[in-house]
Amino acid sequence: MDDFVATVMDIRLVDLLGRWRQGQGPGNPLDSFADHAEHLLIIEFDGPHARYSHYGAAFIRHFGTDLTGLSIDVLPTAILPADRRGMLEFEYSYVRRVARPLWRSYTADFGADIAETWQRLVLPIGNDRLVVGAYPCAAAQDALPGIGLLRLVIDRVPVVLAEDGSVADLALTLRDFSDSRQHAAEMEMLAALDPLTGVANLRHFHHLSGLELDHGRRMGRALSVLALDIDHFKRINDNWGHAIGDEALRAFVAACRTALREPDILGRCGGEEFAVTLPNTGTAGAAIIAERLRRHVERVRMPLPDGQTLNFTVSIGAATMAPTDYRAEPAPTIHDLLAEADKALYRSKANGRNRVTVAGLEKTQ
Ligand code: GH3
Ligand code: MG
Ligand code: MG
Repeated sequence: MDDFVATVMDIRLVDLLGRWRQGQGPGNPLDSFADHAEHLLIIEFDGPHARYSHYGAAFIRHFGTDLTGLSIDVLPTAILPADRRGMLEFEYSYVRRVARPLWRSYTADFGADIAETWQRLVLPIGNDRLVVGAYPCAAAQDALPGIGLLRLVIDRVPVVLAEDGSVADLALTLRDFSDSRQHAAEMEMLAALDPLTGVANLRHFHHLSGLELDHGRRMGRALSVLALDIDHFKRINDNWGHAIGDEALRAFVAACRTALREPDILGRCGGEEFAVTLPNTGTAGAAIIAERLRRHVERVRMPLPDGQTLNFTVSIGAATMAPTDYRAEPAPTIHDLLAEADKALYRSKANGRNRVTVAGLEKTQ
């Protein structure tokens, strides 16, 4: 069944919106919306809890249950299937956050063959109350009286209204807005991680590593940085195609993770170049971890579509910030350390690849 979605706001909701715009007194919101009482839900918020303080008679008739007093997070699934709960919670949290009305037209699927188009208007009343008006509407979009709100068809997407009833915003995806705090955290994560491999991107790597460097300086502890570059990676792409190359990058990262410790920071500098910050690690420790990393990568056997396996190697350069180095003027940064590790990496490549070079020691293994 295709969803039918109205593009015109029902005249009854237009009326409700108008009353909301006139403002409400301090008392019971029902006084301002008396004509709509049968089709209204009033939700009172108390911290994380929300309950219906009013549950319109139209809903009681429709669902055969009076939910007055019931918390909205324990609604029977017969009334609100679990997969719809997210949209409802989204609407309520979003309206409270933006303090603007939100309108939605949707097709409700009430069992076997019964599908109805409904429209809802969610209105904020102060910080701790929402009024929701909901009406079943005719399913002929242009025959509806009402304000011509939208010229585009919006499938289940809530529309945020300005006070004059014009469209202020579209709440584009449920996931985008379902919880503003989770949303912000997700966006931050997305901005910080390399989408292909899930490790820190270069910017985030520098950020995290900079924090570790500051910590190392305060505590007088060494810190090391590794620069990694997969050997002859171009050949993998050339022989097997870019998709296998991508898979090899993920296999590489998985191998690195098994070789690293909890506090170590792995980042992708770009292409097949990665970097690792090793907090609280001096030259000897960096050499050991780099060598372990090199071996873990060497042992990877990635299955290929033709039944063969792919293996590859990595060249590594290491540079260390010793406790005494913190006193240098100007104070070395992660950029400086990474540049030094890169020079060591270059020597690993020049000396035949699949090896570790530790800056300062000029030692290759
Ligand atoms: P070397 O041992 O000297 O490092 O040789 P190399 O082939 O690894 O180095 P080069 O820098 O010449 O090639 C790197 C290749 O990595 C070229 C580029 O097409 C490929 N590459 C960069 N980013 C990606 C990616 O995200 N996915 C895939 N599949 N390939 C990538
Ligand atoms: Mg490279
Ligand atoms: Mg390479």
